[in-house]
Amino acid sequence: AIVTCLVSCGGSRKEVYKDPEAPVKERVEDLLGRMTLEEKVGQMNQFVGLEHIKANSAVMTEEELKNNTANAFYPGITDKEVAAWTEQGLIGSFLHVLTIEEANYLQSLAMKSRLQIPIIFGIDAIHGNANAPGNTVYPTNINLACSFDTLMAYRIARETAKEMRAMNMHWTFNPNVEVARDARWGRVGETFGEDPYLVTRMGVQSVKGYQGSLDSKEDVLACIKHFVGGSEPINGTNGSPADLSERTLREVFFPPFEAGVKAGAMSLMTAHNELNGVPCHSNEWLMADVLRGEWNFPGFVVSDWMDIEHTHDLHATAENLKEAFYQSIMSGMDMHMHGIHWNEMVVELVKEGRIPESRIDESVRRILDIKFRLGLFEQPYADVEETMKIRLCGEHRATALEAARNGIVLLKNEGVLPLDPSKYKKIMVTGINADDQNILGDWSAPEKEENVTTILEGLRMIAPDTQFDFVDQGWDPRNMDPKKVDEAAAHAKNADLNIVVAGEYMMRFRWNDRTDGEDTDRSDLDLVGLQEELIEKVAASGKPTVLVLVNGRPLSVRWAAENLPAIVEAWAPGMQGGQAVAEILYGKVNPSAKLAITIPHSVGQLQMIYNHKPSQYFHPYVAGKPSTPLYPFGYGLSYTTYKYEDLNLDRKEIEKDGSVGVSVKVTNTGSRDGVEIVQLYIRDKFSCVTRPVKELKDFARVPLKAGESRVVNFKITPDKLAFYDIKMKKVVEPGEFIVMVGASSDDKDLLKETFTVK
Ligand code: BGC
Repeated sequence: AIVTCLVSCGGSRKEVYKDPEAPVKERVEDLLGRMTLEEKVGQMNQFVGLEHIKANSAVMTEEELKNNTANAFYPGITDKEVAAWTEQGLIGSFLHVLTIEEANYLQSLAMKSRLQIPIIFGIDAIHGNANAPGNTVYPTNINLACSFDTLMAYRIARETAKEMRAMNMHWTFNPNVEVARDARWGRVGETFGEDPYLVTRMGVQSVKGYQGSLDSKEDVLACIKHFVGGSEPINGTNGSPADLSERTLREVFFPPFEAGVKAGAMSLMTAHNELNGVPCHSNEWLMADVLRGEWNFPGFVVSDWMDIEHTHDLHATAENLKEAFYQSIMSGMDMHMHGIHWNEMVVELVKEGRIPESRIDESVRRILDIKFRLGLFEQPYADVEETMKIRLCGEHRATALEAARNGIVLLKNEGVLPLDPSKYKKIMVTGINADDQNILGDWSAPEKEENVTTILEGLRMIAPDTQFDFVDQGWDPRNMDPKKVDEAAAHAKNADLNIVVAGEYMMRFRWNDRTDGEDTDRSDLDLVGLQEELIEKVAASGKPTVLVLVNGRPLSVRWAAENLPAIVEAWAPGMQGGQAVAEILYGKVNPSAKLAITIPHSVGQLQMIYNHKPSQYFHPYVAGKPSTPLYPFGYGLSYTTYKYEDLNLDRKEIEKDGSVGVSVKVTNTGSRDGVEIVQLYIRDKFSCVTRPVKELKDFARVPLKAGESRVVNFKITPDKLAFYDIKMKKVVEPGEFIVMVGASSDDKDLLKETFTVK
């Protein structure tokens, strides 16, 4: 036995892979040379955590366990068998592990394996590592995007990375850099909104924040997802086909991914959907030609949940599961999320000579490279004690609060806000999101009460002398009690002012009862349940009524927009969100956020985006229905006012490779300090292919004291003027360009100037 081992294990050859001083490349090659085919294929597979398996198996009947692959993760397989495979070195990654104890335990199993290759733990840390209770929960991405605060995106990602590593998590399935172009889609709240440029800027900073230099125990692997097109599903539902021209892909959907790759993102997740007839999970054009061929992506590609399987059992482009694995790997897939058949079938495919082992080696190299770089071989475990110092620490909570303050959008204010406590002594508060942890948003677990400030708690904290009369409507908009609605209406009459906190329900632990989030798509954008009725009845009291929205997708709150004096869009503002909302309502914080996504009047207006093509509204909707949005992209109010003047270009004519300096004077003309998000848009006046009526090309968050003026400078570089011509070549065309600078994407908010490219 000893002789056999010496031969098959490479004899007494020095174990270079265990030497932390050796270059990563050498360590990878050394280790790869020692691995069996089974071990290699195991590195390409991921499983859900044992606790997750147990929890989900427990709620299934025997019969369901046998038949239902989607819910009972691994039918016929117990958590013990999964543990045994880990000990045999046949599993390279786990996801959905929610405690440090389980992570350390699974790692201890991997450490018993022949080669002791550590597990890489992946988790959906979308806005903080919020699926695992006890971590800082930041506002969701759509809220963050509305702050236009790229440094904040970096900071949140950095802090999240630290909290993740503290509990032995190494890999976040974020940032989601999809450009959201359909508000029916339940995942809008996970995105940075509808604009490719803003999504790109936020995505790049997130990648940088998560990964750092990707070599310390405070860094985690980022995953840009989902590649691609799922954010413009043909019917608004998650995973339905995307039918998008190459032009649209390259102009709208690819840029954030390409920039993410450039920023160093070392993993990428493919999208549930098919793209133009080919499932993304077996799409060679996407994975091989574009991602690796054009962009030189050096990292690894991970599949999404059961989606390789879906090329067989849903898209029907693979005749059986084995064929599905074959197609996916040969198109460029590196890691499989998640399941039991992979190991066996992929090994067979190699043994049958259909997949060359060299193709497997490519993927394993990419995965091992990350494991070495992140230091997992040296430090497979996390220290339970250390964890407590980092997770939910004061500094991180302060970031969560600051982010929430910056991301909440004031949509309407006819003088009621900021609330005057001496005028409004008794306030009735009601609505499903008034006193609920739902402010944590999608991808978060219920937290200990003391860790979350709900909106009602925030109000009580910020206005201690005000009497808040709370009429609870429960958390579930679909099961609201009409009697409770009437009760709120009655209480409203006795109040000086009313606050209705409405919106959607997003939390995952009540998966089937949500109205917003993944797999929670809608065919309308109205308020669900009796919420609209609640608002109207409360407002009928004649007392001023303020609407606060907590949601992920835009909601077309027409009635409120026409009839209420004030509306605040909080999105899911995170664990400190209740305080931030209250501070904004009471003017302790001057709101500054601007919409990262258009709010339409109604679902029928979709696709409603600001950067549409010139002909989009050539024939407006009939019968007096608006062709304009309820609230446009880039829009948001403040308690002060700003004046834009003196838009200047430093030259009126440039060469194709030249740049134009732009300056504008912005003055805070009100009586309160504030931060104005100054936006720069460009339009190419005439071009060989149609171009959007305007495109965001730069922005700045500009702090301005009351009365203060500042000159804000931008530079228009050739990349901001370039587009894909008829032959899909990126060019800057000669001709006139319009530069627009101002407070929103709405023409009436923009100053205009032109320059010419010679
Ligand atoms: C989602 C991914 C996520 C994965 C793991 C999928 O359903 O589409 O975004 O990362 O589950 O939780």
